[in-house]
Amino acid sequence: MLEAMLTPAQRALRDEVRDLVKWVPRQLILDMDDDRVRYPREYVAEAARRRLLGLRFPTEYGGRGLGWVDEIVALEEVGVLGTSLACLYSLPSIVGEAIVRFGTPEQKARWLPAILSGRLTVAEALTEPRGGSDFFGTTTRARREGDVYVLDGQKRFVVGAEGADLFLVYARTDPEARPHEGLSAFIVERSEAGSGLRVEHVYGLMGTRGGGTGRLTFRGARVPAANLIGPENGAAAVFYQMMIPERMTSAAGALGMARAALEIAARYADRRKAFGQRIRSFEGVSFKIADSITGLDAARMLVYGAARAIDAGDDPRRCRRLVSEAKKFATDMAWQVVNHAMQILGGIGYTRIYPVERLLRDTRLIMIWTGTNEIMNLIIQSEYQRELLAQRAETRDVEADASDAERADEKVYE
Ligand SMILES: Cc1cc2nc3c(=O)[nH]c(=O)nc-3n(C[C@H](O)[C@H](O)[C@H](O)COP(=O)(O)OP(=O)(O)OC[C@H]3O[C@@H](n4cnc5c(N)ncnc54)[C@H](O)[C@@H]3O)c2cc1C
Repeated sequence: MLEAMLTPAQRALRDEVRDLVKWVPRQLILDMDDDRVRYPREYVAEAARRRLLGLRFPTEYGGRGLGWVDEIVALEEVGVLGTSLACLYSLPSIVGEAIVRFGTPEQKARWLPAILSGRLTVAEALTEPRGGSDFFGTTTRARREGDVYVLDGQKRFVVGAEGADLFLVYARTDPEARPHEGLSAFIVERSEAGSGLRVEHVYGLMGTRGGGTGRLTFRGARVPAANLIGPENGAAAVFYQMMIPERMTSAAGALGMARAALEIAARYADRRKAFGQRIRSFEGVSFKIADSITGLDAARMLVYGAARAIDAGDDPRRCRRLVSEAKKFATDMAWQVVNHAMQILGGIGYTRIYPVERLLRDTRLIMIWTGTNEIMNLIIQSEYQRELLAQRAETRDVEADASDAERADEKVYE
């Protein structure tokens, strides 16, 4: 975020998160990228020990009672570590949102303190092999049998699957209902699901490694009815609420990834010489840096604006549009900035001498996950149109500010 906008408390929080980020062993990042580490539980535990998980949640559960603006300050810092560590940091904020907003008092007391103190780790399972964009087409089934639900189906690409103790899972509880009205959300505890839940590490990922991304297969997994989050068949509301932390964490993490690559490239451009000059004296290089700085600051402003709107309790559908804009713009920007950084480094950027190639592999994902940027476009335009068409009479009729505007016969729409 821009320096002038930070309060003293936010600067102090940023310093705390910077300390955590400096604590992360370099070897851990390398081992995760080489798939030698499958799930860095000690990193989640360290963030928890510093009381840095779930910053927005009430202090009684171990959070700090802060807002989204504070959380994006933290997320930009964590983002410099790359997608896996930023995502594992974000998951308590994402899964916790469902529990805080829709959980019963018993569910909150049972899970939130354990998650925020690092005793229980979490993951979120929406995507199915059949598709992620069409969330409401979910085919995983949950049948009620007395005081349990029996789950059958598959989820894929679940970050943290290998190490998580709890999974937030969406399943169809009413196959006859309309798609939006027949889904329910559950907390599935790995220890309770037993052999009905299989977790497999099946993906040779391009990047975002070491975060335990896996597939979940449910075959008659028995989940206590007490683990239902929100009402039966009420998961649409949970899903829409969850998309705020999903997309805000992606957007804010992207700022950190872009910043990391930009700083490496700008320092390199200041030292590297070609034709006897520092390469930053060439417009071909310095304009890429200028574009990157501008894109990063513009994305910061958009993410900040969305955070302010949510904290202020603005209209949920307008927030939905702003969150989608922030996710799309920040992740597209990060990809472009990292790509520019690789170009500025020339051939050495394509090696493992610098971490830009890892950041490039990582940032390619963020335009795809937590809703692809095409899906963000669908939301942005539809929410904008809805708001625009509803407010026509409230604003000046600018369409009439043309000399022949009254020629209704020329205004042909069909
Ligand atoms: C490393 C990794 C980690 C992930 N982590 C998680 C996780 O923790 N939990 C989880 O649940 N999921 C996770 N995902 C899944 C991710 O969110 C999905 O991959 C993503 O939502 C897209 O779904 P899909 O892959 O099924 O693509 P599809 O939905 O099949 O889409 C394929 C293409 O079609 C486009 N498309 C689809 N519908 C439309 C439309 N209406 N208009 C325009 N274009 C459209 C998409 O934009 C995309 O380009 C992860 C994925 C990866 C690779």
